[in-house]
This record gives sequence, structure tokens and C-alpha cells, in this order.
Amino acid sequence: MKVRYWGVRGSIPVAAPDTARYGGNSSCVEIDDGVCPVVLDCGTGARALGRDLVLRHVKEVVVLLSHYHMDHLYGFPYFGPIFTPNCRVTVAAPGVSAVDVKNRLGRYMNGRYHPIRIDDVAEEIELVGMRPGGRATLGKATVTAASLSHPGGCLGYRVEFDGRSVAYLTDTGPLSPPHQGLSAGLPASGAEKRVLELVKGVDLLVMDTMFSFEEYLTKMTWGHCHPGYAIRLAEAAGAKRLGLFHHAPDASDEALDQLAVQWCDHPTIDVHMAQEGKVVDLEG
Ligand SMILES: [Zn+2]
Ligand SMILES: [Zn+2]
Repeated sequence: MKVRYWGVRGSIPVAAPDTARYGGNSSCVEIDDGVCPVVLDCGTGARALGRDLVLRHVKEVVVLLSHYHMDHLYGFPYFGPIFTPNCRVTVAAPGVSAVDVKNRLGRYMNGRYHPIRIDDVAEEIELVGMRPGGRATLGKATVTAASLSHPGGCLGYRVEFDGRSVAYLTDTGPLSPPHQGLSAGLPASGAEKRVLELVKGVDLLVMDTMFSFEEYLTKMTWGHCHPGYAIRLAEAAGAKRLGLFHHAPDASDEALDQLAVQWCDHPTIDVHMAQEGKVVDLEG
């Protein structure tokens, strides 16, 4: 099973020479089992992924949306499989029911903010409402959700299939304040215990690390994390690999290279910087 990054940027896509190497598309990650891929978020990276899935003649796709902020949703109406006959698409997103998810997607896809209305595609796709603590079998995958720390709410997901597992935690701030819980090197708080359960022993944790620790201290309510906390969480959960993800729009390739030097040499966890086009092989 392979994981491929199609969009790694947070908050807003960027297009500039100094961000071209890590990539400027916003959040979109593919877990590919060769039969029924799972797509994590539909930021602008979902356009190229959708085209690739159509060219690969994929017959079934599962899409998991973490929340409804536009950097995670903008690419959804450009995601080719939703317009492709004979491709079954299931979209699971925060909500109490399928109707609730449809209504939330419809606030963007309503003919005013986007020319394609959710009603134009709703009959072609299956919508599923996900709640914190919820568990569902979607395609070939078992998906579990937990609540993260982000304005407006956000779900983290654990995706398991074929004996492999991936946890996707974006967008989220640390789940404990600086002087408590894992943030302070102390036992996990209640919220951290729930997330640790989600991440326990995963082959790969993909986590929001948009801020440095110093930036986090000045923007603690913004709901974004920093690499030091992500590594602590990954260590506590026994994750095998960690992808630092949801890069700041202002982070240049050079700045991200420096973060790689600072954080990616870890004795027990295989840490990498998420980069558009990068493939992580979970079989290795
Ligand atoms: Zn985001
Ligand atoms: Zn967000």
C-alpha cells in the first residue's frame, strides 16, 4: 500500500517559484491499495488526483473530508471521479447524516460560489455523515474518527486496510496547552488519549505542523500544530512514520529544507516533510 501527497499546503494554495519544489496545492492525500483508493481531503490537489484516478480507470473511490474549510474543499468540484460514470464515489465528512453533509457541501456548491451545485452530483455519489468516535466500513477500509482542536471543529481519521494503517490529523492545534499533557512531557490529557487511540501503532501519521513552536505561542487559538508536538504524539502512539504536513503558505522550499534538517533525523520514527508527488511505501 502506498500513500501519495497531491497537495501539502495549508490555508491557501500558493504558486511561486520558491514554493514549486514542495508544491503549492492545498491538502489532498491518496492512500492507494491498488483497488479502492482513499482520498484524504479535497484541497486544490484533488484536481490532478481526480484526473489520475480517471485515467487509471478506478472503479471505486472513498473520499474523507476532515472539515469544511476551503483549503480542504476547494478541489472537490474539480475531482473527476464524481463526474465519471461507472466510478462509485463515497464521500464521508463531518455531519450527523448524509443530508447534513449534503447541506454543508451545498453552501459552497450552490450555483453562486461555484457553478456546479451539489444537487447536480449528489445522486451520483454516496454521502456519509461522520461524528467524533464514529467508525465505518467504507470501500475496503475501516475508518475511525476523532475530534481535533480547530476553530469550527475538525475530524482526524484512522484508515485501516490490508493490515496497514494511516492516521490523518489536520487541521489541529496541540491537544494540550504548553504546560500540560504531552506538550509538557507529562501523561496524556483526556483529549490526547482519544487521539492516541486513533494513532496507536499506525504505519504513517500525517500531521498538521504549519507553525513553529514560537508562532504557535502567538496563535494558540488558530488550531494548528508544530513539529515538536507532532513528534511527541507520534512517539507516544508508537507511529512508525510521520509526515509533517499543511505547510504555511509563506514557507519557501528553502525554509522547508531547513525544517527537514531540524526534524527529520529521529532515532525511532521515520520523519519526512510532505512534498507534492512524494510517495510513501507502507510495505517497506
Ligand atoms: Zn487547513
Ligand atoms: Zn481548517
